[in-house]
Amino acid sequence: MKTNMKRRHFLQGATSVGALALGASTGLIPARARAQASTQTLITNVRVFDGKSDAPSEATSVLIEGNKIKSIAPNLEAPADATRIDGGGRVLMPGLTDMHTHLVWNVGPAELLGAHADYLAALALQDAEATLMRGYTSIRDTGGGIQGVIRAIDEGRFPGPRIQSANAAITMTAGHGDFRNRNVPVRAFGGPTETELQRMGFVFHADGVPEMLSASRDNMRQGANFLKIFVGGAVSGIYDPLDIAEYSPEEIAAATGEAERWNTYVAVHSYTDRSTRIALEQGAKSIEHGNLMSEATLELLVEKGAWLSTQTALFMSELPDGFSDAQKDRQKQAAEGLDQMMTLAKQYGAKIALGSDMVGSLETKAEQLKEFTWRTQWFSNLEILKQTTSQNGELWAMSGPRNPYGDTPIGVIEPEAYADLLIMEGNPLEDTSVLTQPETNLNVIMKDGKIYKNTLA
Ligand SMILES: [Zn+2]
Repeated sequence: MKTNMKRRHFLQGATSVGALALGASTGLIPARARAQASTQTLITNVRVFDGKSDAPSEATSVLIEGNKIKSIAPNLEAPADATRIDGGGRVLMPGLTDMHTHLVWNVGPAELLGAHADYLAALALQDAEATLMRGYTSIRDTGGGIQGVIRAIDEGRFPGPRIQSANAAITMTAGHGDFRNRNVPVRAFGGPTETELQRMGFVFHADGVPEMLSASRDNMRQGANFLKIFVGGAVSGIYDPLDIAEYSPEEIAAATGEAERWNTYVAVHSYTDRSTRIALEQGAKSIEHGNLMSEATLELLVEKGAWLSTQTALFMSELPDGFSDAQKDRQKQAAEGLDQMMTLAKQYGAKIALGSDMVGSLETKAEQLKEFTWRTQWFSNLEILKQTTSQNGELWAMSGPRNPYGDTPIGVIEPEAYADLLIMEGNPLEDTSVLTQPETNLNVIMKDGKIYKNTLA
């Protein structure tokens, strides 16, 4: 099984991406990949969905200079040495984005605690490449120590999407991120002050305001772009049933205050009405999940201008091997709230982001694409596509000066935006499922002005 997967992975790169893909397989990026950033690419005869408009444009052309889009207009011209792609009348759209991922979590929960950190990093790099080849050009990592992986990708050493990261998610004792054995002595009374997961950068254990401030600041020291706190019970936790509210309002306020002083924000893991409400009242700006919130709390979310960072595949896909019956039962509870939340969020015009939260294996990660079909029970194709492009792009920008990619927009096709784009078979505005078959349907994948796949050459 694994051998087959690797083989397919290699062949995909070798056949469809040409010379550039070899960087993916060998870890070396040929000189051309870097040189290309300073040249122009002219894409002709494409119908552009810009991430915002209701329909694709008439056939037009898009000129890319370096890593940004320079202009969009019919009959553009480019110098003789520019790379040229004839889109053949196909749809061009912004690269997909996913606002809830855990790049480093590619093994089952039991294995995670004992795995070598460098093995996890190696899998994270494999996941990063696979994510990019599924068409995702930017992702937000909502918990996990992957600063080294991000650096290697940003340096162009390995293929992968742009990544903003929360670094280690902050958990209270017995909270979502506490995976210690029950017999481990209390931290505050002579027990070990850190755990395997903390050493590996997955979580920070913090109880009380001083520890919350310390964990928040240390995340910023490690390069976090925003903070992530667990404020309620979880599907995959060990000690936290869904109904509990994790952290006191004072502890949450300590983190939101610190994030604000760094000109960024706090994202919270939360399902229940109570935990979501407390987090909103204390200034959390991105509610991850939110499935069990009431209508009144959804109104509060809209009033506060906070984001609802939603996932569907997480609740509808089967949890991989290694998850317990209790965890599977909690997944079912969360799934039951999803319908009401999505319906209300749409009705109230909440700011909805699209994420997937797939973890556990590289195969499970591929299920992130199901977001494009599962969501059709609540949203139009256009609404789903806006979520994964321009709307996610707005949430992406909320980290302000802590956004490592600056204030250049993502998720839109417009002059001065990053040249992150896809050309595909079929029209996703008519049928979002075209996005779920990237190997056959994605003709061109461009990130940062660089071509990672081009079957139109
Ligand atoms: Zn998550």
